[in-house]
Amino acid sequence: MWACRACGQPWPCAEARLLLKAEFATRPPSLSIYLAGLLYEAMHDLYHLNPHDGPGPRELFDRFVAWGPYRRPAGQPGE
Ligand SMILES: [Zn+2]
Repeated sequence: MWACRACGQPWPCAEARLLLKAEFATRPPSLSIYLAGLLYEAMHDLYHLNPHDGPGPRELFDRFVAWGPYRRPAGQPGE
């Protein structure tokens, strides 16, 4: 269900994010790829389980991908 086994928060919780950042500290591109893969898997699972009231794409993007090691230009449209 994509909840943290340790604390029950939606995974990755704050602690899980710290651990992931530490684990991938020397290779941020690998973390980006890993997180994008998780987003894909989580969308697959959560939309099948909750087709009508599951989390939206923006929420899942923020949860899995947005906190990762990305850089984007300032003033990007839509932000
Ligand atoms: Zn946790």
